[in-house]
Amino acid sequence: MSKIAILHDLLINKIAAGEVVERPAAVVRELLDNSIDAGATRIDVEILHGGKKLIKVVDNGSGMDRDDALMSLERHATSKIETEDQLFGISTLGFRGEALPAISSISKLTLTTATADAETGVKIEIGAKRDKVVSDAPLLKGTTIEIRDIFYNTPARRKFLKTIPTELSHIINTVVQKAFAYTGIAFTLTHNNSEVMGFNAAADLKERFVQLYGAETADEFISINKESKAIKICGFVSSPGAARASRSHQFIFVNSRPVKNTTINHAIYNAARDEIPNNRHPAYFLFLDIDPLNVDVNVHPAKLEVKFERPDDIHRFVRAGVYEALNPGTEVDVTPGSKPVRPDRSGGVYKLERTVRPVVSEASETFGTSQTDFFSSGITSDVKNFFHVGESFIATAMEEGLLIIDQH
Ligand code: ADP
Ligand code: MG
Repeated sequence: MSKIAILHDLLINKIAAGEVVERPAAVVRELLDNSIDAGATRIDVEILHGGKKLIKVVDNGSGMDRDDALMSLERHATSKIETEDQLFGISTLGFRGEALPAISSISKLTLTTATADAETGVKIEIGAKRDKVVSDAPLLKGTTIEIRDIFYNTPARRKFLKTIPTELSHIINTVVQKAFAYTGIAFTLTHNNSEVMGFNAAADLKERFVQLYGAETADEFISINKESKAIKICGFVSSPGAARASRSHQFIFVNSRPVKNTTINHAIYNAARDEIPNNRHPAYFLFLDIDPLNVDVNVHPAKLEVKFERPDDIHRFVRAGVYEALNPGTEVDVTPGSKPVRPDRSGGVYKLERTVRPVVSEASETFGTSQTDFFSSGITSDVKNFFHVGESFIATAMEEGLLIIDQH
């Protein structure tokens, strides 16, 4: 008798969820990615109990018609690529068609969506019985996805969930990363009905930086801007005086996708090594734009890593960009084999000019106290690092992210 059989769909989706959905923040990441890909200009994230009870993402993007909404929950169903060659030039955040079926296999899911020209919206509910209940919904352009009771049917994984503040800190990190990468989108995040953060659409990266971390912190950072025909980098690196004792607040984005990347990380350290003492670390937010044909994003199930076609070029370019930012007036030759030209410091103590100027727009003030001012204190002191966020939360920056404590 044969021993081999094809697994049934629910089991396949649960296996996919094992790779893609390691914790509530991963659900938030996938849902935000979908909202961003759908062209949303406003995204509201509501969380209950660190995402263990509810993760709700509301967007004003394109929405889906009834057929697409049903199809979106099927395995390997995507609107983002059709052919194999498109796989080698991905410009959307999603493309695997895996997230929604995987997430729905380990949670109770409600999807409510409408397109601008529909006659009515549609609501699809998948509960504990796993059947789809489809009904009409109000005609509100955009999509709302609610994920309840994550891992309710995979107890072994539920056991690995950490405390509410830890799970929330990962969610905050995720929203911060997306807010950074998509400055034109307004975001809010509420936890147990209290607003944790909220940002209006920002005019540019500097304005978003100020919304996220406050003008004082922005002033501790130096702008990075370097562009060639093939690569563009921009972002911020901490000024030498604001270097940190830990590696927290090191963010790399490749084509707006937050990733871990040793090539870029190494290039930044290399560029900053003369400015920053050995036991300190630069904080940085580095955005690299490159032709999607020259970077493979299909190398990690959760898309947290990328592979460059020419990593040496990237390394040289990033090192040059960061070096030039830290050494104003220097121009580094990025042709292969060239060494950076160091500025003449023989005239005395070299003083770095700060090029970041805080920009606080009226719009960014609208959300008032929700600005995450934790970072501004965190960067100047690693000991006294608890801060008030909103009214009722205190937060502390940790190696892995931000720990938020709800004082209630
Ligand atoms: P992928 O994003 O890799 O395509 P997903 O499972 O995340 O796969 O989503 C499947 C499809 O559902 C997407 O390709 C998209 O067409 C649709 N979709 C998902 N979320 C949204 C949303 N918030 N707004 C509009 N369409 C969406
Ligand atoms: Mg997706």
